[in-house]
Amino acid sequence: MIYLDNASTTKIYDEVNKKIFEINSEQYFNPSALYQQAIDTSNLLRQSREKLASCLGTTEDHILFTSGATEGNNLAINGFLTGKKDAEYIFDMGEHPSIFNVAKNLTSKDKIVKFINLTSEGVVDENELKNALSSNTHFVSIMHVSNETGAINDIKKLCKMIKDYNSNIIVHCDGTQAFGKIPVNVTDLGVDCYTISAHKFHGPKGVGAIYVKNMDKLKPLFYGGGQQKEKRSGTENVSGIVGMCLAGELATKELKENFDRICEYRNYMIEQISNGCENFVINQAKNNSPYILSISFKGLRGEVLLHLLEKQGILVGTGSACSSKKQNNRILENMSVKKEYILGSIRISFSSFNNFEEVKLATEQIIKQYKNLKESMSK
Ligand code: PMP
Repeated sequence: MIYLDNASTTKIYDEVNKKIFEINSEQYFNPSALYQQAIDTSNLLRQSREKLASCLGTTEDHILFTSGATEGNNLAINGFLTGKKDAEYIFDMGEHPSIFNVAKNLTSKDKIVKFINLTSEGVVDENELKNALSSNTHFVSIMHVSNETGAINDIKKLCKMIKDYNSNIIVHCDGTQAFGKIPVNVTDLGVDCYTISAHKFHGPKGVGAIYVKNMDKLKPLFYGGGQQKEKRSGTENVSGIVGMCLAGELATKELKENFDRICEYRNYMIEQISNGCENFVINQAKNNSPYILSISFKGLRGEVLLHLLEKQGILVGTGSACSSKKQNNRILENMSVKKEYILGSIRISFSSFNNFEEVKLATEQIIKQYKNLKESMSK
């Protein structure tokens, strides 16, 4: 099997798996209990928090552990809601449903929500964002790397533009497809909060974290035992958290080396497909994550191509796995990709676990299955 759907989830590092098993077997104590084993467990959590904070370019007092990016994104938006009547909230049209649907829900609560379109490259339209800012803007959320196309938004630049307009505006960034793959330093980016999810960087599922610059201002989503400074109640998923922080450390350590290698894979695939296929577009920005390659073939069904590849043992996606059951593609549509191309979209997403041999075989099969499909359609 050749797994090329890593934007949907990744295989866990062996080392992380071992660590999780070890903690679940030996250090399963509740970190809030009072005996020594619990204190040791609580210390282990603190060390993990420090480790992850350092990978993100911050300190441990700015990190909250969550159940993943869906929770992180919900927390960022709802945690910074204001009662001010005229307050405006800004989101970009490329956002993952865990932001987009929260944003849509805000409108039903009579909040003023503005959506910013993407350019044909899939990045946020900077001018539109600039023009949308007003003295009432309270919160802006812009994703770092698109889960659909891999387009990278220049968060540092956009954040500076927003803060220069009004430094009180809260800027959130969904970094789920960025952390562990491209350099992330939340302090340097200048954001107020930043969301990540462990299973996207070879950590366990159901664990994530959020960076919050000013914890005092954040309202919790859950009320309960008051864990994590009362901002995120619930007994911590100790093994998952330790696993995530270890995965974050490993991914950060080998980031540059992996990035360069994945660039080669992506470039090779684009070159070969350009020679072997016709009538397709690659949905990418000038500054694009090499980990995601979105291709739209005119007149084909992406889903059919996906299943033909599956029969050959090659797993790819047709777009965000979270919305793969839906017929439309909000993001490609917003980028003005033509409908006859959108339906023929596949998303190939790499991870550091892939090797060149796999990429070569998968590329051959993409071209072969594309040709077969074209041929069968012309009969
Ligand atoms: N944001 C982005 C950009 C994502 O790609 C995903 C996962 N598809 C999420 C949020 C949701 O992450 P999780 O599965 O951890 O809830």
